[in-house]
Amino acid sequence: MSEGLATVSYIGATILFILSLGGLSNPETARRGNWFGIIGMGIAVLATVLGPRVSGGGIALIIVAMAIGGTVGLYAAKKVQMTQMPELVALMHSLVGLAACTIGFASYIDTSTVFATPAEQSIHEVEIYIGILIGAVTFSGSIIAFGKLSGKVGGKPVLLKGRHWLNLMALLVVIFFAFVFLGSDSGAMRGISLAVMTLVALGFGVHMVMAIGGADMPVVVSMLNSYSGWAAAATGFMLSNDLLIVTGALVGSSGAILSYIMCRAMNRNFISVIAGGFGTGDGASSGASAAAAPQGEVKAVSAEETAEMLREAKSIIIVPGYGMAVAQAQHTVNEITQKLRAKGVNVRFAIHPVAGRMPGHMNVLLAEAKVPYDIVMEMDEINDDFPNTDVAIVIGANDIVNPAAEEDPNSPIAGMPVLQVWKAHTTIVMKRSMASGYAGIDNPLFYKDNNRMLFGDAKKMLEEVAKGV
Ligand code: NDP
Repeated sequence: MSEGLATVSYIGATILFILSLGGLSNPETARRGNWFGIIGMGIAVLATVLGPRVSGGGIALIIVAMAIGGTVGLYAAKKVQMTQMPELVALMHSLVGLAACTIGFASYIDTSTVFATPAEQSIHEVEIYIGILIGAVTFSGSIIAFGKLSGKVGGKPVLLKGRHWLNLMALLVVIFFAFVFLGSDSGAMRGISLAVMTLVALGFGVHMVMAIGGADMPVVVSMLNSYSGWAAAATGFMLSNDLLIVTGALVGSSGAILSYIMCRAMNRNFISVIAGGFGTGDGASSGASAAAAPQGEVKAVSAEETAEMLREAKSIIIVPGYGMAVAQAQHTVNEITQKLRAKGVNVRFAIHPVAGRMPGHMNVLLAEAKVPYDIVMEMDEINDDFPNTDVAIVIGANDIVNPAAEEDPNSPIAGMPVLQVWKAHTTIVMKRSMASGYAGIDNPLFYKDNNRMLFGDAKKMLEEVAKGV
Protein backbone atom coordinates (compact mmCIF):
# COMPACT_ATOMS: atom_id res chain seq x y z
CA MET A 1 0.00 0.00 0.00
CA SER A 2 1.34 3.42 -0.96
CA GLU A 3 2.03 6.19 1.58
CA GLY A 4 -0.86 8.24 0.13
CA LEU A 5 -3.41 5.43 0.40
CA ALA A 6 -2.31 4.67 3.96
CA THR A 7 -2.78 8.35 4.92
CA VAL A 8 -6.26 8.44 3.34
CA SER A 9 -7.17 5.24 5.23
CA TYR A 10 -5.92 6.80 8.49
CA ILE A 11 -8.07 9.90 7.93
CA GLY A 12 -11.08 7.65 7.19
CA ALA A 13 -10.44 5.65 10.36
CA THR A 14 -10.13 8.85 12.43
CA ILE A 15 -13.51 10.10 11.14
CA LEU A 16 -15.08 6.72 11.94
CA PHE A 17 -13.66 6.83 15.49
CA ILE A 18 -15.16 10.29 16.05
CA LEU A 19 -18.54 9.10 14.67
CA SER A 20 -18.21 6.08 16.94
CA LEU A 21 -17.75 8.20 20.07
CA GLY A 22 -20.67 10.39 18.99
CA GLY A 23 -22.86 7.28 18.54
CA LEU A 24 -21.90 5.85 21.94
CA SER A 25 -23.26 8.93 23.73
CA ASN A 26 -26.85 7.73 23.27
CA PRO A 27 -28.29 4.22 23.83
CA GLU A 28 -30.33 4.41 20.62
CA THR A 29 -27.27 5.09 18.45
CA ALA A 30 -24.76 3.07 20.50
CA ARG A 31 -25.00 -0.05 18.31
CA ARG A 32 -24.25 2.01 15.20
CA GLY A 33 -21.44 3.75 17.10
CA ASN A 34 -19.90 0.38 17.89
CA TRP A 35 -20.00 -0.59 14.22
CA PHE A 36 -18.28 2.66 13.23
CA GLY A 37 -15.56 1.83 15.77
CA ILE A 38 -15.15 -1.75 14.54
CA ILE A 39 -14.92 -0.70 10.87
CA GLY A 40 -12.54 2.18 11.75
CA MET A 41 -10.27 -0.17 13.69
CA GLY A 42 -10.36 -2.74 10.86
CA ILE A 43 -9.26 -0.08 8.36
CA ALA A 44 -6.59 1.21 10.78
CA VAL A 45 -5.09 -2.27 11.31
CA LEU A 46 -5.12 -3.12 7.59
CA ALA A 47 -3.60 0.23 6.58
CA THR A 48 -0.83 -0.22 9.17
CA VAL A 49 0.00 -3.85 8.40
CA LEU A 50 -0.11 -3.38 4.62
CA GLY A 51 1.32 0.17 4.83
CA PRO A 52 4.72 1.35 3.60
CA ARG A 53 6.45 0.95 7.00
CA VAL A 54 6.01 -2.83 7.21
CA SER A 55 7.82 -5.11 4.84
CA GLY A 56 8.67 -8.78 4.15
CA GLY A 57 9.12 -10.87 7.29
CA GLY A 58 7.54 -8.09 9.38
CA ILE A 59 4.11 -8.85 7.96
CA ALA A 60 4.44 -12.56 8.84
CA LEU A 61 5.44 -11.69 12.42
CA ILE A 62 2.54 -9.28 12.78
CA ILE A 63 0.06 -11.85 11.46
CA VAL A 64 1.32 -14.45 13.97
CA ALA A 65 1.08 -11.89 16.81
CA MET A 66 -2.41 -10.85 15.71
CA ALA A 67 -3.57 -14.47 15.53
CA ILE A 68 -2.31 -15.14 19.08
CA GLY A 69 -3.66 -11.85 20.50
CA GLY A 70 -6.95 -12.17 18.60
CA THR A 71 -7.53 -15.72 19.84
CA VAL A 72 -6.85 -14.75 23.46
CA GLY A 73 -9.12 -11.68 23.12
CA LEU A 74 -11.92 -13.65 21.48
CA TYR A 75 -11.73 -16.38 24.14
CA ALA A 76 -11.71 -13.85 26.99
CA ALA A 77 -14.62 -11.86 25.54
CA LYS A 78 -16.71 -15.00 24.94
CA LYS A 79 -16.02 -16.42 28.40
CA VAL A 80 -16.45 -13.27 30.46
CA GLN A 81 -19.64 -12.92 32.51
CA MET A 82 -21.45 -9.59 32.33
CA THR A 83 -20.56 -8.99 36.00
CA GLN A 84 -16.85 -9.47 35.18
CA MET A 85 -16.91 -6.82 32.43
CA PRO A 86 -15.43 -4.02 34.60
CA GLU A 87 -12.48 -6.27 35.56
CA LEU A 88 -11.90 -7.17 31.91
CA VAL A 89 -11.89 -3.48 30.97
CA ALA A 90 -9.35 -2.76 33.74
CA LEU A 91 -7.18 -5.63 32.49
CA MET A 92 -7.36 -4.27 28.92
CA HIS A 93 -6.22 -0.86 30.15
CA SER A 94 -3.23 -2.52 31.80
CA LEU A 95 -2.26 -4.02 28.44
CA VAL A 96 -2.26 -0.57 26.78
CA GLY A 97 0.07 0.61 29.55
CA LEU A 98 2.32 -2.42 29.14
CA ALA A 99 2.45 -1.85 25.36
CA ALA A 100 3.50 1.79 25.88
CA CYS A 101 6.29 0.64 28.24
CA THR A 102 7.65 -2.08 25.98
CA ILE A 103 7.49 0.15 22.88
CA GLY A 104 9.29 2.84 24.87
CA PHE A 105 12.13 0.47 25.77
CA ALA A 106 12.22 -0.90 22.22
CA SER A 107 12.50 2.66 20.83
CA TYR A 108 15.32 3.36 23.30
CA ILE A 109 17.26 0.23 22.33
CA ASP A 110 16.67 0.73 18.59
CA THR A 111 19.42 3.05 17.38
CA SER A 112 18.69 2.65 13.67
CA THR A 113 16.78 5.93 13.39
CA VAL A 114 18.97 8.79 12.16
CA PHE A 115 17.94 12.22 13.42
CA ALA A 116 18.52 15.33 11.32
CA THR A 117 19.23 17.55 14.33
CA PRO A 118 20.10 17.02 18.02
CA ALA A 119 16.83 18.77 18.89
CA GLU A 120 14.86 16.08 17.03
CA GLN A 121 16.72 13.40 18.96
CA SER A 122 15.96 15.13 22.27
CA ILE A 123 12.27 15.34 21.38
CA HIS A 124 12.27 11.61 20.62
CA GLU A 125 13.92 10.89 23.97
CA VAL A 126 11.36 13.01 25.81
CA GLU A 127 8.64 11.00 24.04
CA ILE A 128 10.26 7.76 25.21
CA TYR A 129 10.60 8.95 28.81
CA ILE A 130 7.02 10.26 29.06
CA GLY A 131 5.63 7.25 27.16
CA ILE A 132 7.21 4.78 29.58
CA LEU A 133 6.17 6.91 32.57
CA ILE A 134 2.47 7.05 31.60
CA GLY A 135 2.55 3.42 30.46
CA ALA A 136 4.01 2.15 33.75
CA VAL A 137 1.52 4.10 35.93
CA THR A 138 -1.37 2.87 33.73
CA PHE A 139 -0.10 -0.72 33.83
CA SER A 140 0.35 -1.14 37.57
CA GLY A 141 -2.65 1.07 38.48
CA SER A 142 -4.92 -0.97 36.19
CA ILE A 143 -3.68 -4.27 37.61
CA ILE A 144 -4.59 -3.11 41.12
CA ALA A 145 -7.96 -1.79 39.85
CA PHE A 146 -8.52 -5.23 38.28
CA GLY A 147 -7.71 -6.85 41.64
CA LYS A 148 -10.07 -4.54 43.53
CA LEU A 149 -12.95 -4.93 41.07
CA SER A 150 -12.62 -8.71 41.04
CA GLY A 151 -12.34 -8.91 44.83
CA LYS A 152 -8.80 -10.37 44.67
CA VAL A 153 -7.47 -7.24 46.39
CA GLY A 154 -9.40 -5.83 49.39
CA GLY A 155 -11.61 -2.82 48.61
CA LYS A 156 -10.54 -0.87 51.71
CA PRO A 157 -8.21 2.06 50.99
CA VAL A 158 -4.61 1.44 52.06
CA LEU A 159 -3.42 4.75 53.44
CA LEU A 160 0.31 4.78 54.18
CA LYS A 161 1.60 7.29 56.69
CA GLY A 162 2.93 10.38 54.91
CA ARG A 163 1.63 9.14 51.58
CA HIS A 164 1.45 12.64 50.08
CA TRP A 165 5.17 13.07 50.85
CA LEU A 166 5.86 9.70 49.23
CA ASN A 167 4.04 10.84 46.09
CA LEU A 168 5.95 14.12 46.08
CA MET A 169 9.25 12.28 46.46
CA ALA A 170 8.32 9.97 43.59
CA LEU A 171 7.62 13.02 41.41
CA LEU A 172 10.98 14.60 42.30
CA VAL A 173 12.83 11.33 41.54
CA VAL A 174 11.10 11.10 38.15
CA ILE A 175 12.03 14.71 37.29
CA PHE A 176 15.64 14.21 38.47
CA PHE A 177 16.14 11.10 36.35
CA ALA A 178 14.52 12.80 33.37
CA PHE A 179 17.40 15.30 33.45
CA VAL A 180 19.94 12.50 33.85
CA PHE A 181 18.38 10.55 30.95
CA LEU A 182 18.32 13.54 28.63
CA GLY A 183 21.65 15.03 29.67
CA SER A 184 23.98 12.08 30.13
CA ASP A 185 26.32 10.69 27.46
CA SER A 186 26.82 7.43 29.33
CA GLY A 187 24.64 4.59 27.99
CA ALA A 188 24.72 2.90 31.41
CA MET A 189 23.47 6.03 33.22
CA ARG A 190 20.70 6.53 30.69
CA GLY A 191 19.60 2.90 31.03
CA ILE A 192 19.64 3.13 34.84
CA SER A 193 17.59 6.36 34.70
CA LEU A 194 14.91 4.70 32.60
CA ALA A 195 14.85 1.61 34.81
CA VAL A 196 14.60 3.62 38.08
CA MET A 197 11.89 5.87 36.65
CA THR A 198 9.92 2.80 35.48
CA LEU A 199 10.11 1.21 38.94
CA VAL A 200 9.04 4.46 40.63
CA ALA A 201 6.15 4.85 38.14
CA LEU A 202 5.04 1.24 38.72
CA GLY A 203 5.14 1.82 42.49
CA PHE A 204 3.22 5.09 42.13
CA GLY A 205 0.46 3.34 40.12
CA VAL A 206 0.08 0.68 42.83
CA HIS A 207 0.15 3.26 45.65
CA MET A 208 -2.34 5.59 43.94
CA VAL A 209 -5.02 2.96 43.33
CA MET A 210 -4.46 1.12 46.64
CA ALA A 211 -5.23 4.40 48.46
CA ILE A 212 -8.59 4.71 46.77
CA GLY A 213 -11.41 2.66 48.11
CA GLY A 214 -15.13 2.24 48.39
CA ALA A 215 -17.30 4.48 46.34
CA ASP A 216 -14.44 6.34 44.62
CA MET A 217 -13.55 3.39 42.38
CA PRO A 218 -15.72 4.58 39.44
CA VAL A 219 -13.55 7.69 39.15
CA VAL A 220 -10.41 5.53 39.18
CA VAL A 221 -11.76 3.23 36.47
CA SER A 222 -12.56 6.14 34.15
CA MET A 223 -9.29 7.88 35.05
CA LEU A 224 -7.30 4.77 34.08
CA ASN A 225 -9.35 4.63 30.89
CA SER A 226 -8.14 8.18 30.20
CA TYR A 227 -4.51 7.27 31.10
CA SER A 228 -4.64 4.33 28.68
CA GLY A 229 -5.57 6.82 25.94
CA TRP A 230 -2.64 9.09 26.78
CA ALA A 231 -0.36 6.02 26.91
CA ALA A 232 -1.54 5.11 23.38
CA ALA A 233 -0.97 8.70 22.22
CA ALA A 234 2.55 8.61 23.70
CA THR A 235 3.15 5.35 21.80
CA GLY A 236 1.97 7.13 18.64
CA PHE A 237 4.58 9.84 19.18
CA MET A 238 7.33 7.25 19.71
CA LEU A 239 6.36 5.41 16.53
CA SER A 240 5.57 8.60 14.58
CA ASN A 241 2.12 7.16 13.91
CA ASP A 242 -0.45 9.96 13.47
CA LEU A 243 -3.47 7.68 13.78
CA LEU A 244 -2.31 6.32 17.14
CA ILE A 245 -1.76 9.88 18.39
CA VAL A 246 -5.26 10.97 17.35
CA THR A 247 -6.93 7.79 18.64
CA GLY A 248 -5.03 7.99 21.94
CA ALA A 249 -6.01 11.64 22.34
CA LEU A 250 -9.68 10.78 21.67
CA VAL A 251 -9.66 8.03 24.31
CA GLY A 252 -7.61 10.18 26.71
CA SER A 253 -9.88 13.21 26.49
CA SER A 254 -13.17 11.27 26.51
CA GLY A 255 -11.91 9.34 29.56
CA ALA A 256 -11.03 12.64 31.25
CA ILE A 257 -14.55 13.97 30.54
CA LEU A 258 -16.02 10.74 31.94
CA SER A 259 -13.89 11.12 35.10
CA TYR A 260 -15.23 14.66 35.47
CA ILE A 261 -18.83 13.42 35.04
CA MET A 262 -18.19 10.66 37.61
CA CYS A 263 -16.74 13.18 40.09
CA ARG A 264 -19.72 15.47 39.61
CA ALA A 265 -22.10 12.52 40.08
CA MET A 266 -20.43 11.80 43.40
CA ASN A 267 -19.99 15.43 44.38
CA ARG A 268 -16.26 14.88 44.70
CA ASN A 269 -13.24 16.88 43.73
CA PHE A 270 -11.01 15.07 41.24
CA ILE A 271 -7.78 15.99 43.04
CA SER A 272 -9.11 14.80 46.40
CA VAL A 273 -10.11 11.48 44.81
CA ILE A 274 -6.62 10.99 43.44
CA ALA A 275 -5.12 12.07 46.77
CA GLY A 276 -7.00 9.03 48.02
CA GLY A 277 -9.06 7.73 50.88
CA PHE A 278 -12.83 7.84 50.50
CA GLY A 279 -14.54 5.81 53.17
CA THR A 280 -11.86 6.09 55.81
CA GLY A 281 -10.10 9.43 55.34
CA ASP A 282 -7.15 10.55 57.37
CA GLY A 283 -8.96 11.81 60.42
CA ALA A 284 -10.90 9.70 62.84
CA SER A 285 -14.05 11.74 62.32
CA SER A 286 -14.37 10.81 58.68
CA GLY A 287 -14.20 7.09 59.31
CA ALA A 288 -17.11 4.69 58.86
CA SER A 289 -17.02 4.14 62.61
CA ALA A 290 -18.03 7.77 63.18
CA ALA A 291 -21.22 7.32 61.15
CA ALA A 292 -24.42 6.88 63.14
CA ALA A 293 -25.70 3.31 63.48
CA PRO A 294 -29.09 2.94 61.74
CA GLN A 295 -32.14 2.98 64.03
CA GLY A 296 -35.48 1.23 63.50
CA GLU A 297 -36.98 -2.08 62.56
CA VAL A 298 -36.47 -4.12 59.42
CA LYS A 299 -39.76 -5.30 57.87
CA ALA A 300 -39.61 -8.23 55.45
CA VAL A 301 -42.23 -8.91 52.77
CA SER A 302 -42.95 -11.90 50.56
CA ALA A 303 -42.95 -12.00 46.76
CA GLU A 304 -46.77 -12.29 46.75
CA GLU A 305 -47.15 -9.19 48.93
CA THR A 306 -44.74 -7.36 46.64
CA ALA A 307 -46.76 -8.39 43.57
CA GLU A 308 -49.92 -7.12 45.25
CA MET A 309 -48.34 -3.74 46.00
CA LEU A 310 -47.18 -3.45 42.41
CA ARG A 311 -50.62 -4.41 41.06
CA GLU A 312 -52.26 -1.69 43.12
CA ALA A 313 -49.72 1.03 42.31
CA LYS A 314 -50.32 3.70 39.67
CA SER A 315 -46.72 4.84 39.46
CA ILE A 316 -43.58 2.78 40.04
CA ILE A 317 -39.89 3.63 39.82
CA ILE A 318 -37.43 0.75 39.49
CA VAL A 319 -33.87 1.36 40.72
CA PRO A 320 -31.45 -1.28 39.44
CA GLY A 321 -28.02 -1.80 41.01
CA TYR A 322 -25.07 -4.16 40.99
CA GLY A 323 -27.18 -7.02 42.43
CA MET A 324 -29.38 -7.02 39.31
CA ALA A 325 -26.25 -7.62 37.25
CA VAL A 326 -25.09 -10.41 39.58
CA ALA A 327 -28.48 -12.12 39.46
CA GLN A 328 -28.84 -11.47 35.69
CA ALA A 329 -32.38 -10.39 36.51
CA GLN A 330 -32.78 -7.78 33.75
CA HIS A 331 -35.00 -9.95 31.51
CA THR A 332 -37.39 -10.74 34.37
CA VAL A 333 -37.42 -7.03 35.26
CA ASN A 334 -38.46 -6.27 31.68
CA GLU A 335 -41.16 -8.96 31.79
CA ILE A 336 -42.68 -7.40 34.93
CA THR A 337 -42.38 -3.93 33.40
CA GLN A 338 -44.30 -5.02 30.28
CA LYS A 339 -47.03 -6.65 32.37
CA LEU A 340 -47.48 -3.58 34.55
CA ARG A 341 -47.41 -1.19 31.60
CA ALA A 342 -50.06 -3.28 29.88
CA LYS A 343 -52.25 -2.64 32.95
CA GLY A 344 -51.70 1.10 32.55
CA VAL A 345 -49.17 1.52 35.40
CA ASN A 346 -46.60 4.28 34.88
CA VAL A 347 -43.29 2.35 35.23
CA ARG A 348 -39.96 4.12 34.93
CA PHE A 349 -36.32 3.30 35.70
CA ALA A 350 -33.96 5.54 37.68
CA ILE A 351 -30.29 5.16 36.83
CA HIS A 352 -27.61 6.43 39.19
CA PRO A 353 -24.40 7.42 37.35
CA VAL A 354 -22.26 5.03 39.43
CA ALA A 355 -24.73 2.12 39.71
CA GLY A 356 -23.11 -1.26 39.13
CA ARG A 357 -19.40 -1.58 38.56
CA MET A 358 -18.74 0.38 35.37
CA PRO A 359 -20.05 3.54 33.72
CA GLY A 360 -23.31 2.78 31.89
CA HIS A 361 -23.49 -0.73 33.43
CA MET A 362 -27.25 -0.57 34.09
CA ASN A 363 -28.04 1.02 30.72
CA VAL A 364 -26.25 -1.85 28.97
CA LEU A 365 -28.18 -4.50 30.92
CA LEU A 366 -31.56 -2.83 30.40
CA ALA A 367 -30.85 -2.33 26.69
CA GLU A 368 -29.91 -6.02 26.44
CA ALA A 369 -33.28 -6.92 27.98
CA LYS A 370 -35.01 -4.55 25.51
CA VAL A 371 -36.43 -2.17 28.12
CA PRO A 372 -37.71 0.87 26.13
CA TYR A 373 -35.16 3.73 26.28
CA ASP A 374 -37.80 6.40 26.89
CA ILE A 375 -38.66 5.03 30.37
CA VAL A 376 -35.01 4.83 31.48
CA MET A 377 -34.20 8.10 33.28
CA GLU A 378 -30.98 9.60 34.58
CA MET A 379 -30.81 10.52 38.28
CA ASP A 380 -31.25 14.27 37.68
CA GLU A 381 -34.31 13.71 35.50
CA ILE A 382 -36.23 11.60 38.00
CA ASN A 383 -35.00 12.29 41.53
CA ASP A 384 -37.72 14.91 42.22
CA ASP A 385 -40.48 12.47 41.21
CA PHE A 386 -40.12 10.02 44.13
CA PRO A 387 -42.57 11.90 46.43
CA ASN A 388 -45.29 11.39 43.75
CA THR A 389 -44.49 7.69 43.32
CA ASP A 390 -46.49 4.85 44.88
CA VAL A 391 -43.75 2.21 44.93
CA ALA A 392 -39.98 2.55 44.47
CA ILE A 393 -38.49 -0.89 43.93
CA VAL A 394 -34.75 -1.25 44.50
CA ILE A 395 -33.23 -4.29 42.78
CA GLY A 396 -29.81 -5.22 44.17
CA ALA A 397 -28.77 -1.61 44.77
CA ASN A 398 -27.39 -0.31 48.04
CA ASP A 399 -24.88 2.59 48.09
CA ILE A 400 -26.74 4.57 45.41
CA VAL A 401 -29.93 4.68 47.52
CA ASN A 402 -28.27 5.25 50.90
CA PRO A 403 -29.95 8.20 52.70
CA ALA A 404 -26.91 8.53 54.99
CA ALA A 405 -25.27 10.45 52.14
CA GLU A 406 -27.79 13.26 52.80
CA GLU A 407 -28.69 12.74 56.45
CA ASP A 408 -25.43 11.87 58.20
CA PRO A 409 -22.55 14.33 57.83
CA ASN A 410 -20.20 11.74 59.38
CA SER A 411 -21.03 9.10 56.81
CA PRO A 412 -18.12 8.19 54.52
CA ILE A 413 -20.38 8.94 51.54
CA ALA A 414 -21.74 12.23 52.94
CA GLY A 415 -22.43 14.64 50.11
CA MET A 416 -22.69 12.01 47.37
CA PRO A 417 -25.96 12.53 45.45
CA VAL A 418 -28.22 9.48 45.82
CA LEU A 419 -31.61 8.38 44.48
CA GLN A 420 -34.15 9.52 47.10
CA VAL A 421 -36.22 6.31 47.02
CA TRP A 422 -37.31 6.73 50.66
CA LYS A 423 -39.47 9.70 49.57
CA ALA A 424 -41.78 7.35 47.64
CA HIS A 425 -44.97 6.20 49.38
CA THR A 426 -43.50 2.69 49.80
CA THR A 427 -40.02 1.37 49.08
CA ILE A 428 -39.20 -2.27 48.46
CA VAL A 429 -35.53 -3.31 48.57
CA MET A 430 -34.58 -6.65 46.99
CA LYS A 431 -31.34 -8.21 48.18
CA ARG A 432 -30.21 -11.44 49.76
CA SER A 433 -29.24 -10.21 53.23
CA MET A 434 -28.50 -7.11 55.28
CA ALA A 435 -24.95 -7.02 53.87
CA SER A 436 -23.47 -3.67 52.86
CA GLY A 437 -22.68 -2.59 49.32
CA TYR A 438 -19.35 -1.74 47.64
CA ALA A 439 -18.58 1.18 49.99
CA GLY A 440 -18.93 -1.20 52.97
CA ILE A 441 -21.30 0.96 55.03
CA ASP A 442 -24.70 0.47 56.70
CA ASN A 443 -27.82 1.65 54.95
CA PRO A 444 -30.49 3.37 57.14
CA LEU A 445 -33.00 2.98 54.27
CA PHE A 446 -33.57 -0.63 55.31
CA TYR A 447 -34.86 0.52 58.72
CA LYS A 448 -37.24 3.25 57.53
CA ASP A 449 -40.98 2.95 58.32
CA ASN A 450 -42.10 2.94 54.69
CA ASN A 451 -39.46 0.43 53.59
CA ARG A 452 -39.96 -3.30 53.07
CA MET A 453 -37.21 -5.85 52.43
CA LEU A 454 -37.72 -8.69 49.93
CA PHE A 455 -34.87 -11.04 50.81
CA GLY A 456 -33.48 -13.49 48.23
CA ASP A 457 -31.70 -13.70 44.91
CA ALA A 458 -33.10 -10.90 42.72
CA LYS A 459 -33.86 -13.15 39.74
CA LYS A 460 -35.58 -15.83 41.78
CA MET A 461 -37.67 -13.32 43.72
CA LEU A 462 -38.59 -11.36 40.60
CA GLU A 463 -39.77 -14.54 38.87
CA GLU A 464 -42.16 -15.12 41.78
CA VAL A 465 -43.23 -11.48 41.69
CA ALA A 466 -43.83 -11.77 37.92
CA LYS A 467 -46.19 -14.71 38.50
CA GLY A 468 -48.10 -12.68 41.10
CA VAL A 469 -48.32 -9.62 38.87
P1 NDP B 1 -23.69 -1.90 45.78
O1 NDP B 1 -22.43 -2.61 45.58
O2 NDP B 1 -23.73 -0.75 46.70
O3 NDP B 1 -24.82 -2.92 46.31
C1 NDP B 1 -25.18 -4.04 45.60
C2 NDP B 1 -26.09 -4.89 46.46
O4 NDP B 1 -26.57 -5.95 45.66
C3 NDP B 1 -25.36 -5.54 47.62
O5 NDP B 1 -25.64 -4.88 48.83
C4 NDP B 1 -25.86 -7.00 47.62
O6 NDP B 1 -26.50 -7.28 48.86
C5 NDP B 1 -26.88 -7.04 46.49
N1 NDP B 1 -26.78 -8.25 45.70
C6 NDP B 1 -25.66 -8.89 45.26
N2 NDP B 1 -25.98 -9.99 44.59
C7 NDP B 1 -27.33 -10.06 44.58
C8 NDP B 1 -28.27 -10.98 44.05
N3 NDP B 1 -27.90 -12.08 43.38
N4 NDP B 1 -29.59 -10.74 44.23
C9 NDP B 1 -30.00 -9.66 44.93
N5 NDP B 1 -29.15 -8.76 45.46
C10 NDP B 1 -27.84 -8.96 45.29
O7 NDP B 1 -24.23 -1.52 44.33
P2 NDP B 1 -24.86 -0.15 43.79
O8 NDP B 1 -25.17 -0.43 42.35
O9 NDP B 1 -25.94 0.34 44.69
O10 NDP B 1 -23.67 0.90 43.88
C11 NDP B 1 -22.49 0.77 43.14
C12 NDP B 1 -21.28 0.87 44.03
O11 NDP B 1 -20.12 0.39 43.32
C13 NDP B 1 -20.98 2.30 44.44
O12 NDP B 1 -20.40 2.33 45.72
C14 NDP B 1 -19.97 2.71 43.37
O13 NDP B 1 -19.18 3.79 43.79
C15 NDP B 1 -19.16 1.44 43.23
N6 NDP B 1 -18.45 1.30 41.96
C16 NDP B 1 -19.05 1.70 40.80
C17 NDP B 1 -18.35 1.64 39.59
C18 NDP B 1 -18.98 2.19 38.34
O14 NDP B 1 -18.25 2.58 37.42
N7 NDP B 1 -20.30 2.22 38.25
C19 NDP B 1 -16.98 1.08 39.53
C20 NDP B 1 -16.49 0.59 40.80
C21 NDP B 1 -17.20 0.72 41.97
P3 NDP B 1 -26.63 -8.80 49.36
O15 NDP B 1 -25.26 -9.37 49.42
O16 NDP B 1 -27.31 -8.70 50.69
O17 NDP B 1 -27.50 -9.52 48.37
